[in-house]
Amino acid sequence: MACSRGKASPNSFTKSKLFANSGGFCQRPDCNENLFKTFTNTEIHIAEIAHIISANNGSRSNKDYTAEEKGNYENLILLCSKLSYNN
Ligand SMILES: [Zn+2]
Repeated sequence: MACSRGKASPNSFTKSKLFANSGGFCQRPDCNENLFKTFTNTEIHIAEIAHIISANNGSRSNKDYTAEEKGNYENLILLCSKLSYNN
């Protein structure tokens, strides 16, 4: 679960809330991938925290949001890592 966006990074409580409310599944409606996998007898998660309003200045950015607001639970979604490779 990599997120190195400075002040736009969620705190540990927000991360826990994202995992708890995901039920262990990717939150992209058409995906629903299990976020926990077992590889060679080791269980890992493949979840990645994504910002809805981008933490950077990109196509999904919005200057009306502070960095802290971008790291709030309401601006985050928990996705499986395979989306990173498909998009
Ligand atoms: Zn997914």
